[in-house]
Amino acid sequence: MVVELINTGSELLLGRVLNTHQQWLCRQLADLGYVVTRQVAVPDTAVDIQQSVREALVRADLIITTGGLGPTSDDITRELIAEMLGRKLHEDAASVEEIKKFFALRNRPMPERNRVQAMVPEGALVLANPRGTAPGLAIEIGNEDGRWRMEDGKKQRVPSSSLYLPSSSSKKLLVMLPGPPRELRPMFTETVVPLLQRELPPKEKFISRTLRTTGLGESSVQEKIAGPLTALVQAGLEVGYCAHMGQVDVRLAARGDAGEKIVRDAEMIVRAQFGSAIFGEGDDALEAVVIRLLTEKKQTLVLAESCTGGGIADQLTNVPGASAVLLGGFVTYSNRMKEKILGVRSETLAQDGAVSEAVAREMADGARRVAGSDYAIAVTGIAGPSGGTAEKPVGTVFIALASERSTHVWKMFNPWDRLAFKEVTVRQALNQLRLRLLA
Ligand code: ATP
Repeated sequence: MVVELINTGSELLLGRVLNTHQQWLCRQLADLGYVVTRQVAVPDTAVDIQQSVREALVRADLIITTGGLGPTSDDITRELIAEMLGRKLHEDAASVEEIKKFFALRNRPMPERNRVQAMVPEGALVLANPRGTAPGLAIEIGNEDGRWRMEDGKKQRVPSSSLYLPSSSSKKLLVMLPGPPRELRPMFTETVVPLLQRELPPKEKFISRTLRTTGLGESSVQEKIAGPLTALVQAGLEVGYCAHMGQVDVRLAARGDAGEKIVRDAEMIVRAQFGSAIFGEGDDALEAVVIRLLTEKKQTLVLAESCTGGGIADQLTNVPGASAVLLGGFVTYSNRMKEKILGVRSETLAQDGAVSEAVAREMADGARRVAGSDYAIAVTGIAGPSGGTAEKPVGTVFIALASERSTHVWKMFNPWDRLAFKEVTVRQALNQLRLRLLA
């Protein structure tokens, strides 16, 4: 199956918005067995949008467009595609009601210009958008009686060499999704996925599983499992590695009837190899795993952060339900604050320096004492680019984990740029707590 993605929006080409739809949709589709073979980003101009869709229709069975379904004058995707396919637009009464409801819930009258979002091309399916005003649209395009609808709206027989002729006589699906990610993502998951599985199921059964590891480098992950997986790869297993900051994902996929067994066997090999370095599956986030473990064990946490500047607290508070287990955090950047709030001793600071095992330990112990929590994490390090010494180069960081029983300190070395240093350190700290909670 040929799948193509067209991201519309001049802001994408001006570098003002990162094209996250490209990554997100390709990933979701790949996990479902629909591999995107071509992706383009085009500006909001009629000629670019129509040309890209027309070209995609020649090749693809599934075309997904994003953006341009809004109420403003540069939101023209719907009109252009309808015009190109020769499908008249009509106002969909149910969509008008949904849009009115959206505004009524916010105590605002519906601006007249939003009515345009309820315009639906003839024969199109409306994809509800509970998070916004622009419904998505899905249009089935067939090679009806060997004819193809032309731009002028008339059905015409076209020569096979024509650009307008579909590549096969099979059904094609054109799906239009809104631009804002908070609207596109739930619409895709809740509405588009079931539609695809019903209307354009992958030709073969497709199984995919992603295991997420932390604390291992990408090449060492690959080195450890490539050999043991060789036989399964020969049997059809696809293995993919994706490195994020402080995290490597291993994706195992296979097609056909044997796919399920192949992926299951591969998963056993990977799990046996990496054990507790695997923190989750699919889209699991390390911070969510930590919150879940704390919640299950009914234990509480406090944070004492220096070089991560509140990064650990930021990650943990992204997780719903964090307030039940995270009591709070201190960003103690200066020596004075480490002393005043956490009770770090001035002698320790003078003797060992702020970035030291002893200070990390006292920070964690102090934070736990102040908060009365079960656990405390403390971090102190040198993010750089200045401040390093021969003994403690830029990238040196101490992570302490205090509990009622003991306080452990780990010395890490993360010699990356400032932001990467912070991100990796946050993950290492969360991982130490995760491993302790699993023990
Ligand atoms: P709206 O009702 O907001 O006008 P729309 O369907 O017309 O919705 P656009 O106007 O194209 O969508 O985009 C709205 C916003 O969505 C953009 O300003 C941008 O912040 C975000 N957005 C659009 N396309 C992408 C993309 N490919 N990746 C990430 N964000 C995007």
